[in-house]
Amino acid sequence: MRLDIGKIRGLFPVLHQEVHGKPLVYFDNAATTQKPQSVLDALTKYYEKDNSNIHRGAHALADRATRYFEESREAIQQFINARESAEVIFTKGTTEGINLVASTFGRKNVGKGDEIIISTLEHHSNIVPWQMLCEEKGATLKIIPINDAGEIIFEEFEKLLSSKTKLVSIVHASNALGTINPVQNVIDAAHAVGAKVLLDGAQSASHLEIDVQKLNCDFFVFSAHKLYGPTGLGCLYGKREVFENMPPYQGGGEMIKEVTFEKTTYNVIPFKFEAGTPNIADVIAFKAAIEFINDLGKDAIRSYEDELLAYANEQLTQIKGFIPVGTANEKVSVLSFNIKSMHPYDVGMMLDANGIAVRTGHHCTQPLMKRLGIEGTVRASFAVYNSKAEIDKLVEGVSRIARIKNK
Ligand code: PMP
Repeated sequence: MRLDIGKIRGLFPVLHQEVHGKPLVYFDNAATTQKPQSVLDALTKYYEKDNSNIHRGAHALADRATRYFEESREAIQQFINARESAEVIFTKGTTEGINLVASTFGRKNVGKGDEIIISTLEHHSNIVPWQMLCEEKGATLKIIPINDAGEIIFEEFEKLLSSKTKLVSIVHASNALGTINPVQNVIDAAHAVGAKVLLDGAQSASHLEIDVQKLNCDFFVFSAHKLYGPTGLGCLYGKREVFENMPPYQGGGEMIKEVTFEKTTYNVIPFKFEAGTPNIADVIAFKAAIEFINDLGKDAIRSYEDELLAYANEQLTQIKGFIPVGTANEKVSVLSFNIKSMHPYDVGMMLDANGIAVRTGHHCTQPLMKRLGIEGTVRASFAVYNSKAEIDKLVEGVSRIARIKNK
């Protein structure tokens, strides 16, 4: 299906504004995506009509809010093809999802001498929780190396695997370079040595078809705000049998079955991991974001974004002084680059002056930047509402900036 980009853009109020006197060109989608009107409306409607605490309420509003909340969980279950909605836990985001797994699964299953494997491509949120766990437990963190294109070296990964490996936690698509990892092969190889696998889906969930049953991953984490949904909300998928063998994360209301001063018994999943009043409004509104994506179809989104990426690449690579960073064969629509003899931050500021929003710096991947021997990059990341006309503006801007130092 050919997408009607003009119509899609019309659904996003924030896109229709000027920045520094120029029409906004928003290319910072890997950091967070904009929200369609349907998500904004769902938030307003909830607060205007349905606001109530969920579960256990004995009145109409509580029933309604509970129903909408659980319908969102079901929409997410279908979105990632989980077996049942109880395998979807709401969190604050990808970061909290990973920390939850480290604090519960990790604390229980990782001991002295054990190993956890991550890759050079990881975001800090998929590095630091494992470092903290390894330090606490006397375990070792092993790192899969990458080649210069920004792809993991699979043979090196295989060499790291052993019976000591308890978990492989790897990014599905890199936020800094866009590389899509060969996660199916990673999962199969990890399972062959008895390790569990966590996929950081922060960047993949909005671009790629996700089928957690087919992938057979043990955990999958992502953030709503990178999928046209609200901030401060994420999802952690886990297999029922894995979740059931994990201790709870936080203690409090909702996560208990029965409390006495002597002993507390815990609720069933997913509630065991959802202590306290959750982010009800945002969970409910997230369903509208999922519907927005489903209405367009992931295949159509992916092929359009691929087209944008190829179009941008084709033109930018012709600019003197343009240095692409991350040239993997399989990529989501993230374009990282530098301009010879210029600091990425300066490039970002100059683009901003033209109304073009990009991100600059290390993108929370300092070890990756170190491996590539750079301080940071300029990153343009495309979403389904971006257009070729906007890419033309980026190309024009980059070309003008590059000429300053690359005559
Ligand atoms: N992992 C990746 C690959 C990401 O891109 C991000 C967000 N930049 C995160 C983890 C962390 O997500 P959040 O800040 O929403 O918790």
